[in-house]
Amino acid sequence: MQVHKYDVVIVGAGGAGMRAAIESGQRARTAVLTKLYPTRSHTGAAQGGMCAALANVEEDNWEWHTFDTIKGGDYLVDQDAAEVMAKEAIDAVLDLEKMGLPFNRTPEGRIDQRRFGGHTRDHGKAPVRRACYAADRTGHMILQTLYQNCVKHNVEFYNEYYVLDLLIVEEDAVREDGTPYKQKRVAGVVSYDLASGELHVFQAKSVVFASGGAGKVFKTTSNAHTLTGDGMGIAFRRGIPLEDMEFFQFHPTGLAGLGILLTEGARGEGAILRNSEGERFMERYAPTIKDLAPRDIVARAMANEVREGRGCGPDKDYVLLDLTHLEPAHIEAKLPDITEFARTYLGVEPFTDPVPVFPTAHYAMGGIPTNITTEVLQDNDTIVPGLYAAGEVACVSVHGSNRLGTNSLLDINVFGKRAGIAAAEYSKTADFVELPEDPEAMTRGLLSGLLEGNGTERVAQIRKELQDTMDANMQVFRTKESLEQVLNDIEKFEERYKNVTVQDKGKRFNLDLLEAVELGFLLDMAKVMTVGALHREESRGGHYREDFPDRDDEKFMKHSMAYLDSSVTVGSSAESVAGIRLETKPVVFTRYEPMERKY
Ligand SMILES: Cc1cc2nc3c(=O)[nH]c(=O)nc-3n(C[C@H](O)[C@H](O)[C@H](O)COP(=O)(O)OP(=O)(O)OC[C@H]3O[C@@H](n4cnc5c(N)ncnc54)[C@H](O)[C@@H]3O)c2cc1C
Repeated sequence: MQVHKYDVVIVGAGGAGMRAAIESGQRARTAVLTKLYPTRSHTGAAQGGMCAALANVEEDNWEWHTFDTIKGGDYLVDQDAAEVMAKEAIDAVLDLEKMGLPFNRTPEGRIDQRRFGGHTRDHGKAPVRRACYAADRTGHMILQTLYQNCVKHNVEFYNEYYVLDLLIVEEDAVREDGTPYKQKRVAGVVSYDLASGELHVFQAKSVVFASGGAGKVFKTTSNAHTLTGDGMGIAFRRGIPLEDMEFFQFHPTGLAGLGILLTEGARGEGAILRNSEGERFMERYAPTIKDLAPRDIVARAMANEVREGRGCGPDKDYVLLDLTHLEPAHIEAKLPDITEFARTYLGVEPFTDPVPVFPTAHYAMGGIPTNITTEVLQDNDTIVPGLYAAGEVACVSVHGSNRLGTNSLLDINVFGKRAGIAAAEYSKTADFVELPEDPEAMTRGLLSGLLEGNGTERVAQIRKELQDTMDANMQVFRTKESLEQVLNDIEKFEERYKNVTVQDKGKRFNLDLLEAVELGFLLDMAKVMTVGALHREESRGGHYREDFPDRDDEKFMKHSMAYLDSSVTVGSSAESVAGIRLETKPVVFTRYEPMERKY
């Protein structure tokens, strides 16, 4: 057995993982394990910007930003976390600037800022310029800048190491009120080295999960092929709950039929959505901020236009993003990449013709629950000492039921930094937890099960069918029937998954094997999301139930917490379906009472 020992192990080298590594690497012996080469992480695909109330070009302050984030998330946001994020946003941008990030500038040399959906002046009066950006390559610049700074601080990277298991031990403990419980403690992780096919155990005092999202449960998605929910899946299988997984964001402007993203920055720079009648339809849905309403509202409006027959194209199945009234030089300077995407993938020239767009699966609002220090919760009241999570894999609940654009690049920087500091500081006083006996056992079993299987099922086929049913039934509009359809389908996929055959039986660069493992995570995540959506009989943020079209604060102003529980059998009730137990967690309120959400 190959065992490595580090104070801190960080899983993932996207923005959150590397921001954590910069802090942790300066304080403790730190290793970053990543299935991708760091600069290939999805953060590098982010386009439009990262927000902070710098007030460089217009009056702004962190309190307005906090309010927008909470209202944008349809009040399911933990307000203490939103305050932390909005306050620390300013330093997060300045940290990146000091590290060398080339932001776009105003003529006076300040960091320029542009408009984005849901970000407003003075509690919703008008859109405000809050997003800092580097053309439409903001994520690329962030990722490169963070990587260079990790190299500067001698962070050790293990590239193409797939983490497949989290090592947890349970100790008997007693709560303050005298009730006994099992306290989870983190001992390390198990990883698979793609190049050699060998397993490596990493023993660590602190483990930080920063492994990104799960957008590949959908077919039409802006997400990279690798976003298969591994971190969420690994934690879930080890008894950590997942929070608010039913809330998945559909970004309004994916290239129609493809899902490739066109940043909301386009609308921030003045682009307009139109239906087949040429109407600027967002004026009807959000009279005050129109095309710059939050994403859930715009995505639903678009889907509704199509449903009511005002879609464009031969099949009337998309709407148009119109940039033709903007100066070509302005578009070229501010949005060079996405205009090129429209030309390359759809053959449309955005200077002269509007671009076909439709909502695309984009962002997981839910994830591994943490507090504002990024410590992972094993239940509502108890943390897992030494275990941290940050970025899209986590749910500190700054996004509630709908994330505002540019708040994720912010989230990964603010909470990535917090995680790096907290994990390193913890490791200074903590001892290593003894590894469980045969720590590789579960991973070996998982891999050999897949390698030795000789059934007739193919991974790609099951994945495709899963994505098809998720697109058809778990998208912008949901009903009880559509969600039960997904759960029925998943039950069959799970059976078929037991009979998959991995054709490559080799040890080196066996991506065939890893795609089979990733499909297991996708199935788990799709199921958790759908069970949550079935249970939540209301509409809020990104979750819209046609059979329950209103927000129901009385019954559902609470986070959902899904636990793996094999004692729950299939179809017993809406609260508990097929191996998943649903509980709730209170929302943290500080100063904002829930109001009707009008824009
Ligand atoms: C096309 C696109 C455009 C976007 N534009 C914006 C924007 O303009 N503004 C904004 O705020 N947000 C934007 N977002 C969202 C934002 O980019 C992401 O939410 C954020 O970058 C996620 O960062 P992360 O560090 O959590 O994860 P990622 O950057 O996805 O990194 C995940 C890391 O985890 C590693 N990993 C995963 N699984 C494993 C495993 N099993 N073992 C080891 N390592 C693993 C990967 O190798 C990778 O290094 C955009 C997203 C997309 C898809």
